[in-house]
Amino acid sequence: MDTFMTVRSYGRNCREANRLARESLLECEDLISTTKENSLIYMLNEEPEKGVKTGVEICGLVDFSIKMAERTYGALNPVLFPVTRAWGFTSGNFRIPDEQEIEELLKLVDYRNIKIEPAEDSAEKAEFRISMKAGMMMDLGAVGKGFAGDRVLKMLSLAGIESAIIDLGGNIQVLGNKPDGSPWTVGVKNPWGGEPVCGIKVSDCAVVTSGGYERFFEGEDGRRYIHIFDGRTGCPVENDLVAVTAVCASGLYADSLSTALFVMGSEKAVSFWRENRDFDFVIIKKDAAVLYTAGLKGKIFFTAGTPAAVCVE
Ligand code: ADP
Ligand code: MG
Repeated sequence: MDTFMTVRSYGRNCREANRLARESLLECEDLISTTKENSLIYMLNEEPEKGVKTGVEICGLVDFSIKMAERTYGALNPVLFPVTRAWGFTSGNFRIPDEQEIEELLKLVDYRNIKIEPAEDSAEKAEFRISMKAGMMMDLGAVGKGFAGDRVLKMLSLAGIESAIIDLGGNIQVLGNKPDGSPWTVGVKNPWGGEPVCGIKVSDCAVVTSGGYERFFEGEDGRRYIHIFDGRTGCPVENDLVAVTAVCASGLYADSLSTALFVMGSEKAVSFWRENRDFDFVIIKKDAAVLYTAGLKGKIFFTAGTPAAVCVE
């Protein structure tokens, strides 16, 4: 997943638990990597019309991504890969495609053209076929680490671990409380460096950040192009946000939200929260203003250098 990952678990069986966690993470890569040859998603993208056969776990993940795409009006879009690839975000050979090229590629990013149906020849097993229209390509990068995190925590739990903290490239997920019984404290990075912007006290929770400040390239025009895209324009997102941290029990939900809210910008993100209220967020705007949702009251504390934060009710 092109990042560093740390799993730290506490308890008697922690060595064995960590070994299982590692295995589980490597398995995720074999399933959902877009770049690893012969991963399930790689195969799907090679022959989208023929599709791939898979079990309930990955079908559930794809189905979840489609539902989130619908709920967020396409802010989250699991089939933006033709576009992000053209900009060079998979290869590192960055370039700015011209308008005509983008217009052509945008014909391939309609998530309503993903099909999930029972696999014809496997009546016994719960297997499904995922397929798409010709030329479409899936990329579960916006939800993959959250999915992997939930999987790892389940694995640790089954191995008898009651206290753990994992960091999957900035996706923080905690199991239970700290070994001393008190909640974990997770910091939210300051995009401009230095002390964290705030700390949040959590147990059994995911704290997932999406930002435009770590993965980007600078164009010849001097502008900064980030790795999170707007599916309506086919271009990297440019709005009033620097980072969004989503906080809720499910790593998968938090990961999908951090990306979707980032694409929405602050106003739409606030409306989305008001309509749903099944998660919390911390938003950092380009003007350094900080917004957080009411559910975090009593759990969130700010460090000295943070400008006055506004609580969204
Ligand atoms: P990170 O991977 O940096 O933690 P995200 O969870 O926000 O950040 O996922 C960003 C990745 O998701 C991108 O690298 C790209 O592969 C993919 N992506 C970019 N824009 C979108 C989008 N609007 N919807 C879904 N996936 C996206
Ligand atoms: Mg995400």
